[in-house]
Amino acid sequence: MSENVEKVAEQLDKVILDEEGKPLSKKALKKLEKEQEKEKRKQETAARLAAEKSARDANATDCSKGKYGKLPLNQSQERTYQRRERIEDITAERAGETIHFRARVQTARATGSKLCFYMLRQRNSTIQGLVSADDEQISKQMVKFATSIPAESIVLVEAKIVKAAEAVKSCTVQDVELSIQQLWIVSEAVARLPFTLEDASRPEEIFAKEGAQFSRVNLDTRLDNRIIDLRTITNQAIFRIQSGVCRLFREFLTKQEFVEIHTPKIISAASEGGANVFKVSYFKGEAFLAQSPQLYKQMCVCGDFERVFEIGSVFRAENSNTHRHMTEFIGLDLEMAFEEHYHEVMYLIGDLFTYIFDGLKTQYRAEIETIRRQYPFEEIEYPPKPLRLEFKDAVALLRENGVEMGEFEDLTTENERFLGKLVKEKYGTDFYMLDKFPLAVRPFYTMPDPSRPGYSNSYDFFIRGEEIMSGAQRIHDPEYLEERASAAGVDLDTIRSYIDSFRHGASPHAGGGVGMERVIMLYLNLGNIRKSCMFPRDPKRLEP
Ligand code: ATP
Repeated sequence: MSENVEKVAEQLDKVILDEEGKPLSKKALKKLEKEQEKEKRKQETAARLAAEKSARDANATDCSKGKYGKLPLNQSQERTYQRRERIEDITAERAGETIHFRARVQTARATGSKLCFYMLRQRNSTIQGLVSADDEQISKQMVKFATSIPAESIVLVEAKIVKAAEAVKSCTVQDVELSIQQLWIVSEAVARLPFTLEDASRPEEIFAKEGAQFSRVNLDTRLDNRIIDLRTITNQAIFRIQSGVCRLFREFLTKQEFVEIHTPKIISAASEGGANVFKVSYFKGEAFLAQSPQLYKQMCVCGDFERVFEIGSVFRAENSNTHRHMTEFIGLDLEMAFEEHYHEVMYLIGDLFTYIFDGLKTQYRAEIETIRRQYPFEEIEYPPKPLRLEFKDAVALLRENGVEMGEFEDLTTENERFLGKLVKEKYGTDFYMLDKFPLAVRPFYTMPDPSRPGYSNSYDFFIRGEEIMSGAQRIHDPEYLEERASAAGVDLDTIRSYIDSFRHGASPHAGGGVGMERVIMLYLNLGNIRKSCMFPRDPKRLEP
């Protein structure tokens, strides 16, 4: 029995009577049911036709028809060679021009049904756009569409450049805004964002203010969702600076006749002794991940390249959960044969840093300003010729200021920092070179200082009181090297090929290893090395 007949039968039990007051027959009931169904179908059809007509009418009255919507999937169907703008090139002088560009929607905010404010972003630039209904060019339907586009979607925009009535402080382009004429979705952000780009970009100062209502995105959440986090204009700027540091490093050294090399990262013996080395399985045996390119870059000097550098991964199995240690970082390494004295190399490295700092200051001004807006910092001060201090003088300075330490004792992190403060006060620089370290605190291949027993021809460089580089003259005499290695308890069999490389004649040489991420962390005073590494690795993080 159909549901309706059942219902009707139920009713029959109770009430349904004909005109003469007699109960309806089964036949009459069926007829009634049919009529009811017919009526229902009629009403549904009428409703559908009305909806279609209203949509047709709306379309007919939509003056923006064909100016917005979702683009088909780009399968490289065609090339129109249409000029696409970069946001940073949109200037007030170009007011009145109509331009096309692709960007992300950082925010879309409606004000009533006729106006939608957009913040559009490309890499490290943002600009304000408006979709404003005027019932001639731009319809309310288009405004509604604009408002509905999820944040972080990628859109293709046609817009007119308009001078802004007042500076748009929230954007990097402040004197101009865009009157959006066409708006097409290229790729819609469908997944829910773990945090908004607005929250992730808030200046640190805001959180210091009393009663701050904003949510702060902590570092772990950022790193867990690095792809989103990397999109902030601050991170775009940080990693451009990172790229800049590598470029300037390469540029300076190439001009100085250095050759870029690539040394193996899978090696048969630990490069810096057994401690802190990652062991990996290697077919039926085992291998190690290189803790530095030290031995190989020296072997390249022995192979007569004379001046070599490398930008490559360095692995350290240190269980250090600090603000400045990672288990994988990028080493900016160099090694150079010198004529007479290792100071030729040390000062060249000093000049290399001056070149990098000058380059950042002049070529990355906009990036530095962007970073400072979120993470305020004082720019480093450094003299045109780097300051050189001897280790013993640093110890004396620390002792004068109340630190108790032995003459040949290594610097603790705390003392390094304090020394940085004292050096800044006394010499007015955030960058300096500390020369002549105690021999006992350096690796076995470091050349001892013949004139000062207990000291060595080795140096560390510092920014804001933290180490960014270690370097030294290396022992290039095989017998002396064996003697020093044995004294340090190194198994000679494990470094045989290294020692043998010096048996066929080797120039005196020196070099150093710089931690790339540390340079950026300290230059920008970011406070944590993970902020200057795209995908950091530490004892607790192997993802993403
Ligand atoms: P530290 O005493 O700070 O742990 P280190 O003396 O072990 O450093 P070196 O082996 O001399 O450092 O490495 C050269 C440079 O590499 C350091 O000056 C630093 O900039 C960088 N570096 C060393 N270890 C790390 C690490 N775990 N994470 C990131 N950078 C590092």
